[in-house]
Amino acid sequence: MISSLNMETIFSKIIAKEIPADIVYEDDIVLAFLDIKPTNHGHTLVVPKVYSADATETDEATLAHLITVGQKIAQAQRAVLGATGNNLIFNCGKDGGQEVFHTHLHVIPRFANDGVFEHAHRTTYAEGESAIVANKLVATIQ
Ligand code: 5GP
Repeated sequence: MISSLNMETIFSKIIAKEIPADIVYEDDIVLAFLDIKPTNHGHTLVVPKVYSADATETDEATLAHLITVGQKIAQAQRAVLGATGNNLIFNCGKDGGQEVFHTHLHVIPRFANDGVFEHAHRTTYAEGESAIVANKLVATIQ
């Protein structure tokens, strides 16, 4: 695995404290800071200090820790920002909506009728199609 110090992304520069960010949590494994263009105020990014491109490539222990820290931040968003819901999201890959190719967990505080993701795309399955899709995944997941 490549060290974040060797992989120049905007987030590795924030981790190295070369550029500023509003840091809300830090330990040996992750740094969490406010998103510069938040979906709602308090929208936080949790980033591993050891570089990986996205969550599909992150080692299991680091990924588990990212989610544990994300849970604490979501609880704080409810406790002190008045959030009544949260979204914890990894965008993975360009077609997954990822823009910064350094793994990060979005922790977004949600409020009643805030309009976020209101127009998210949904589709349906034809008869029998969902079983075919599920079977493909079952055969591959280890
Ligand atoms: P993605 O689309 O890759 O999942 O999300 C990247 C996020 O990083 C975006 O929500 C964007 O606003 C945030 N971001 C990009 N550049 C910076 C920056 O320099 N500082 C901070 N705090 N957030 C950034």
